[in-house]
Amino acid sequence: MTKLSPGQTIGILGAGQLGRMLAQSAVQLGFDVITFAPEKRPPAVQLASAHFNAAFTDAAALEAFAADADVITYEFENIPLSALDTVAPHAPIRPGRRCLEVAQDRLFEKDFLNTVGAGCAPYRSVSSQQELEEAVEALGLPAVLKTRRFGYDGKGQTFLRTQADIALAWDALGNAPGELILEGFVDFEREVSVVVARGVNGKARTYGPVWNEHSNHILHRSIMPAPVSDDCADEAITKALNVAEALEAVGVICVEFFVLKDGGGVIANEIAPRVHNSGHWTIEGTPASQFENHIRAITGLPLGLTDALGPVEMHNLIGNEIDDYETLLADPSAHVHHYGKPEARVGRKMGHVTWVRSDP
Ligand code: AMP
Repeated sequence: MTKLSPGQTIGILGAGQLGRMLAQSAVQLGFDVITFAPEKRPPAVQLASAHFNAAFTDAAALEAFAADADVITYEFENIPLSALDTVAPHAPIRPGRRCLEVAQDRLFEKDFLNTVGAGCAPYRSVSSQQELEEAVEALGLPAVLKTRRFGYDGKGQTFLRTQADIALAWDALGNAPGELILEGFVDFEREVSVVVARGVNGKARTYGPVWNEHSNHILHRSIMPAPVSDDCADEAITKALNVAEALEAVGVICVEFFVLKDGGGVIANEIAPRVHNSGHWTIEGTPASQFENHIRAITGLPLGLTDALGPVEMHNLIGNEIDDYETLLADPSAHVHHYGKPEARVGRKMGHVTWVRSDP
């Protein structure tokens, strides 16, 4: 496949809010969208012409979905690689299998980040309490113990501050499936991220760096531009481009960074092999959003401009913050997004709101 034409079909594995916003851009560009997810009525189905509701282990359902797709993409990184292997004979998968493979495992990911010179926190692989003790000895405290796989929004990780925390941390995570990784604590100045859109021809455009503030491990707000030096911004952009290139990604990926104190530059925290929450500001804040450029890239179309139209601020609406929906809409400059989720559970991303300012 070199290029898709309007009317052809984009298959999305996963159908949450990221899938929904991808579908919005796909539909805008004239493509058909089909989705595949274990949930019956996830956020993207309002925009999909067909929804395949089955488990990611259901090979027959995956084959039926793939048979109807001209290109396949995914909206979250915890899709089993076996699902990608089932759909692979039917259509190209983008950004690509390797992106997912690297990003799914924190140990592979950190090895990879060092290989491409993006840097990362010091780390040790841990598979027993004794190895955890040795890792603490090597890296010092504080440190963060994380599951290698299936962690997100702070799930599957625990902080160690004192020696007494070793046994507690092991009790909390030692039974987690797969092995663990201990990371040295990075006393960072702030967190930033860069979103990269890379086309089939290898040409790439970037968004950011944007400054991300978290609350309870969940992204709370993003501010563009990030208040960092030009050198620091350039370093983050170069490192993110190197990651995308080394992964041979086609589409959008995001690299999250820690900005070190005292002008120490940036080191990578993690790779999201997909469109990312810290890129939501691009919908109204740039000529071509991360979602649009992802669709352009995976369909072989040229990329659109990624420059910010002004200072931008994006707030996530988590849990019952979505109750502010009408109040926010009363502000005529607020771009309010509701993901159409029926139930506002604690910690659930229900929507977001973006303001594009005319001055800082
Ligand atoms: P992660 O899921 O690895 O992105 O971790 C979630 C958040 O926890 C990060 O965005 C940081 O705010 C914090 N965090 C994770 N790892 C470290 C670390 N090694 N040092 C300091 N803070 C960390």
